[in-house]
Amino acid sequence: MSAIRESGWKSGVALCALMVAGCGSDMPGPQSGLIALTGATVIDGTGGPAFENGVILVRGDELACVGTAADCPVPEGTPRTDLTGQFITPGLVDAHVHFDQTGWLDGRPEALATDVYPYEETIQYLWDDPGRWHRAFLCSGITAVYDVGGAVWTVTDEQATDTDRPDRAHVRAAGPLITHVDYNAPFMTGMLADQPVFLPMQSETDIVEDIAFLQSIGSQAVKVWYLQPDPADVERLDALLMAAGAAADAAGLPLLVHATDLREAKVALRAGADMLVHSVGDQPVDREFLDLLAANETFYAPTLIVPGNWSEAVIAASEQSVPVIDDPNGCVDAALRDRIDNIAAYSDFAGQLSPEDVAARRAAYQAEMDVMQANLIAVYEAGGRIVTSTDSGNPLTLHGAAINPEMEAMQAAGLPASAIIEMSTRTGAEAMGLSDRIGTLEAGKLADLIVLDADPREDIANMRRLSHVMRAGFLLEQSDLQLYTAPVE
Ligand SMILES: [Zn+2]
Repeated sequence: MSAIRESGWKSGVALCALMVAGCGSDMPGPQSGLIALTGATVIDGTGGPAFENGVILVRGDELACVGTAADCPVPEGTPRTDLTGQFITPGLVDAHVHFDQTGWLDGRPEALATDVYPYEETIQYLWDDPGRWHRAFLCSGITAVYDVGGAVWTVTDEQATDTDRPDRAHVRAAGPLITHVDYNAPFMTGMLADQPVFLPMQSETDIVEDIAFLQSIGSQAVKVWYLQPDPADVERLDALLMAAGAAADAAGLPLLVHATDLREAKVALRAGADMLVHSVGDQPVDREFLDLLAANETFYAPTLIVPGNWSEAVIAASEQSVPVIDDPNGCVDAALRDRIDNIAAYSDFAGQLSPEDVAARRAAYQAEMDVMQANLIAVYEAGGRIVTSTDSGNPLTLHGAAINPEMEAMQAAGLPASAIIEMSTRTGAEAMGLSDRIGTLEAGKLADLIVLDADPREDIANMRRLSHVMRAGFLLEQSDLQLYTAPVE
């Protein structure tokens, strides 16, 4: 574990370009007035044809013109960045993340607890620097994220949510989850008592109070965590979910629901869910589900890779083997890598799974993946509004880096790469309520875009070939955004 080093964000050039107006870098930026990106194939996210040899003019933090050379003549003297042979898309949107989870086993209250990483200390570590995830997102080409549930600070701490800045991704945040599951008592003591992740859902009074609380802290959505209720309690809890939908609607907040089984997902849709934050994974979706989804215009967030990643993290703890992580652009920071490498912190769990248990877990998550992928195609063919979404923060679903395997799992399900590009840009911006500012490359919108070395329409895996990221008019080379560089042999 030697020679790991942070790079990029600590380098003068990146900080200069991001933080200091006109600080003399030769990197094109908004302070230089109009700039031009020329020569690339521009996929603007609208679903229209791409512009070969396109021109993008940027003034300040906005797009001034996007089109062909004829559409967008470059005024003499305008600084140009020649991107011939490359591909430009809007910045990516991850529609399901959690700022208050690490991406490893230590980041959830019910995860494997250890003396090495007590949950309370981990939450403090996350709260101390929400910027770590902003850096990971931009490093991965993600310029907007929907935090669909977490501690109070994920809504109130301006480091997490004051995102009208070029060194941060746009954020919309739901804050604490409303749930019928009682998770507070065993975990939420000490400083965590003031930072609830979960709000009660045992009565209509609870719901009224929960939504008033969410409004008081500035939540931008209402998230309900709806697990399979006890059969004896189904009617009561279904009615409470309906009440939560009505109350969210009255408060003018979108309703986001975690409901991974078909029956519960239908109740969520009847309650007016604006987004289902996961796939239906227990069985194939049916006509009734698809009709409800269409009638509500509900966004559907597949989160395909998170169950398998969870299982592999638990298997790694049992086998005491450091898991291999998928980090194509060096966006997993050294502190998180250290935590993942320190598998000995979980030595209490060594050998807890037999080889048969491991095989059974892998078979179970593969079976769930098969159902989720088939359902994704059914939703797509029915014209559903699908948003690329990772659930990053959960074990081995790594902030930023997870976007690539997630998009590839969508492609493996059978979605065309061109459709996945729109789900990862325009539709995500729509789900966040930000489509007037981001999500497509059109004059007047913010200059948030990525540059790739290979065509993502040919293969969505080409999204790994990230060359540059522009956020609010600042163009940075991906190498200047990297958080980790592999040791030199
Ligand atoms: Zn989640």
